[in-house]
Amino acid sequence: MPLSADYDIAIVGSGFAGSLMAMIARRLGKSVILLERGRHPRFAIGESTTPLSNLLLEELATRYHLPNLLPLCKWGPWQKTYPDLACGLKRGFTFYHHQPGRDPRRDDQLLVAASPNDAIADTHWYRAEVDSFFVKEAQKAGVEYLDEVRMQSACERGDEVRLEATRGGASLTVDARFVVDATGPRGFLHRAFGLPELPLPDFPPTQALYTHFTGVRRLDELAPSEEVPPYPVDDAAVHHVFEGGWIWVLRFANGITSAGVAASFDASADFSKGASAWQRTLDRFPTIGAQFASAEPTMPFVHAPRLAFRSGTIAGRCWALLPSAAGFVDPLLSTGFPLTLLGISRLAEIFERDWDSPRLPPALADYARQTEDELLATARLIGSLYATMANFPVFASLSLLYFAAASFSETARRLGRPHLASSFLLQDNPRFQTRELQERARTVRTEAESQALSDDIRRFIEPFNVAGLADPRRRNWYPADAGDMLRGASKLGADRDEVAQVLARCGFHAVP
Ligand SMILES: Cc1cc2nc3c(=O)[nH]c(=O)nc-3n(C[C@H](O)[C@H](O)[C@H](O)COP(=O)(O)OP(=O)(O)OC[C@H]3O[C@@H](n4cnc5c(N)ncnc54)[C@H](O)[C@@H]3O)c2cc1C
Repeated sequence: MPLSADYDIAIVGSGFAGSLMAMIARRLGKSVILLERGRHPRFAIGESTTPLSNLLLEELATRYHLPNLLPLCKWGPWQKTYPDLACGLKRGFTFYHHQPGRDPRRDDQLLVAASPNDAIADTHWYRAEVDSFFVKEAQKAGVEYLDEVRMQSACERGDEVRLEATRGGASLTVDARFVVDATGPRGFLHRAFGLPELPLPDFPPTQALYTHFTGVRRLDELAPSEEVPPYPVDDAAVHHVFEGGWIWVLRFANGITSAGVAASFDASADFSKGASAWQRTLDRFPTIGAQFASAEPTMPFVHAPRLAFRSGTIAGRCWALLPSAAGFVDPLLSTGFPLTLLGISRLAEIFERDWDSPRLPPALADYARQTEDELLATARLIGSLYATMANFPVFASLSLLYFAAASFSETARRLGRPHLASSFLLQDNPRFQTRELQERARTVRTEAESQALSDDIRRFIEPFNVAGLADPRRRNWYPADAGDMLRGASKLGADRDEVAQVLARCGFHAVP
């Protein structure tokens, strides 16, 4: 039987982002339908959170009265509240640099702690379960949810969009005042509206190969360190970096580990070959080979032949792509979640403020511009990191641009000064323009040039550095140290007492 219905907002795609957007729209009093091609629980990639992404989720859950989401923002409350919902512990960002046939040494490591203890640590989301949880919460909030929907077309009709689909053999028509596309890169509206795809400047063509495994060994058992690292190196997002590419390793507490390789076309094996291409990559690097010696995939490998993506149009009169549908750069540095959450927060404000006003189209144009600017800034940074993967000292220095911007942004928001960090990577801050340093990094050839760049990056980040980054005495092992933040208080226009109060509120106690 054909079905037709009218809604204020139709959201296509029920990953965590579509479900979260749907819950918020309901809290704003809109009627909402959420349309999903598949069926939960299902595998999804994109698992590692960051301090900023967890803070953004916490802000959204607080502002829009979604208390059931709050425990998901930190490892401790998550374990206490939802012990059966799988996730992994992420205490920081671990980078090991590899050369063929050689084990990494102390100088081949960059460890950046994200939290001082497990209780307030970040997590890796086991997306099959977490996305199911989100969709159930959306239904509890009054969202109409339909799965196994085959979307067919979208058509703008004056001030609304008509969506045509089929479900279980019957046709389905939805008229919505607004459509949000949460279907990921090259997703529904991009295809249905025939939007152009644009290149990401200065970013190499890349591909990826990934799956979930059991039996992945811990690095701290394989190659115990003589010094005590700032956090257990495996309870982290582990990045094994080599010329032209890198491998991620994310451990969940249920015995499963997510791992995959992303690499430029020049540097990669033929990833379409799946398991054999994965094995060929492992065979080049002894430590990684040993880590996966007894690992077994739990599902077939997924090959993403074109990883990066940028849609040429991001919003229209009454529709918008979430940042995760508007573009994607690379899993390096886990930028997908914070970009997506920033986009959800901006669309939520637009719905709240401009729903019935003539300001809606200009507000959407601003949304599209911000989304694009942040995508391009991310691509410029990660593109320069790809270009320096063979030269680890340069790679490590350059990555401090990310860690300085991210920790400054997180602290500014926690201090109630979000205007100091209104854009991702501080990309719209005139004092944090990183393009010249990133371009220079690509040209470094000698040790002297490398040292000069590292010195310049240290000076450049200094006004934003609230995490003790670039201190040569730390030799690229950075703990989460309350003292660094207290010393950096004035950079955020705050005094030490104010920062101390924020730290106490967050459960952050000083490193002994
Ligand atoms: C290899 C890889 C690794 C990544 N790692 C990280 C990471 O560690 N950290 C991080 O922050 N980000 C990461 N990302 C980015 C991250 O995956 C995204 O930011 C995140 O998944 C966005 O969530 P989402 O809900 O918007 O989209 P998705 O999780 O992609 O969900 C999209 C949903 O839409 C549905 N759908 C698709 N097409 C249709 C259609 N036509 N009709 C109806 N439904 C449809 C899908 O079935 C799915 O349920 C990674 C991305 C990749 C590719």
